[in-house]
Amino acid sequence: MPAFLDLLFPPKCAACGAPGWPLCGACVGEVGVLSAPWCDRCGRPWEEPMASCADCPPRSIDAARAPFLYAGPLARAIRGMKFSGWHAVGPHLAAGMAEVAGDILPADVVTWVPLSRRRRARRGFDQAEVLARATAARLGIPAAPLLVRVRDTRAQARVGGAERRRALRDAFATRKVAGKVTQRVLLVDDVLTTGATAAACASVLRRAGASSVVLLTAARSLGGPIPGRCVALTDRVEAQARTGSSESARVP
Ligand SMILES: [Zn+2]
Ligand SMILES: [Zn+2]
Repeated sequence: MPAFLDLLFPPKCAACGAPGWPLCGACVGEVGVLSAPWCDRCGRPWEEPMASCADCPPRSIDAARAPFLYAGPLARAIRGMKFSGWHAVGPHLAAGMAEVAGDILPADVVTWVPLSRRRRARRGFDQAEVLARATAARLGIPAAPLLVRVRDTRAQARVGGAERRRALRDAFATRKVAGKVTQRVLLVDDVLTTGATAAACASVLRRAGASSVVLLTAARSLGGPIPGRCVALTDRVEAQARTGSSESARVP
């Protein structure tokens, strides 16, 4: 972007709108970074290293990683990216994704969990594709659209358990042009929650012949306990002020 455009449209924090790009200094201080020790299979941080854990995504996904905790300003930036066209945040998130991808590589091709054609048309872009292409470029691995969403299930995000799994089972298909997928696939999405959606994609890729499917997301949503080291700095300081120095809130 030419420098004069910065004067007309100063780059603003994607989370709070204050000056600063892609996040302002205050918001950067509130980003939770996921770090080891963690579950070797899914990268969920714990107090001790382990081979697999209760929060692991379904078995059709061989391994998973995400650089950031889905909370606070980062969650706001990702929601903003989806719904108000902040797709310029994508390459910045991809830098963090490429950092942690080493643990789950090698891969021959990068692909993504696609939006339905209707949703993509309405939004103008597919946020997972933006992340996948930017990450693939950083890793030097080709990106290819291997999947199509034949049924729109994202609107039913709140439908739980078995019903959601049933709806997801038939939601994806491989693209005709993709032919037989005989490669090790790195699957990209924006956020990992239960992994049900990504697992549905991984199953389709495996049925098409993929030899392995690993999942890389920009952020991970965690329901259970989160080690203090992965909680944003400001939260840690607040937690310490509240509880003295509890194990879960201790700054290393
Ligand atoms: Zn901010
Ligand atoms: Zn795990």
